[in-house]
Amino acid sequence: MNGLDQQKIDHLSGLMDARWAREFSEIRALVADLGEERQRVALGERAADSSDEALLDTLSATDEALIRQNLQDVRDIAAARQRIAAGTYGECIDCGDEIAYERLLAYPTAKRCIGCQREHERVKTAREGRSIG
Ligand SMILES: [Zn+2]
Repeated sequence: MNGLDQQKIDHLSGLMDARWAREFSEIRALVADLGEERQRVALGERAADSSDEALLDTLSATDEALIRQNLQDVRDIAAARQRIAAGTYGECIDCGDEIAYERLLAYPTAKRCIGCQREHERVKTAREGRSIG
């Protein structure tokens, strides 16, 4: 069990809800800007005013890079909501330690403590550096 009490979780959850709403208004604007043909491809049979969850589901397969970026953010939020429901929110997925509340305030969807995140990025950068040459 980590140091997050219900009040802190509620606060972080509220931050994520606000972010979710903002991302989806951007996603809807992006979809609206696509033009008829690409919009039809992105949405299939779905209407652009479908519920957020339905839209997330439908757009998962889209090739539109800008939309994919916003989708990644809402997916992170959906995953964080699942961790809240499972009671594992705020625990580092690598070492199991609690993630500092200050870090969660800045990144409510953080999955790792700052130490593991740095290590994760170091390894990732090293790996990408090798592939570039
Ligand atoms: Zn950790």
